Amino acid sequence: MKFGNRFKSYYDKHPLTIVKNIWNCPPCKVCGEVCNGQALECKESGCNFTVHCYCNWSLE
Ligand SMILES: [Zn+2]
Ligand SMILES: [Zn+2]
Repeated sequence: MKFGNRFKSYYDKHPLTIVKNIWNCPPCKVCGEVCNGQALECKESGCNFTVHCYCNWSLE
């Protein structure tokens, strides 16, 4: 798995970018827990979608 790749998400209509150690830790949109460490983030302005990798892929 490479950082900077873009992934389709079941939960967001935009492609997500895998990020490591987000500084301002928004809550995961799926489980509501703070995203620290590795997460998937939507870079579309105004979207602010962030999800844990394991939450995003748990249903696939
Ligand atoms: Zn989005
Ligand atoms: Zn989560």
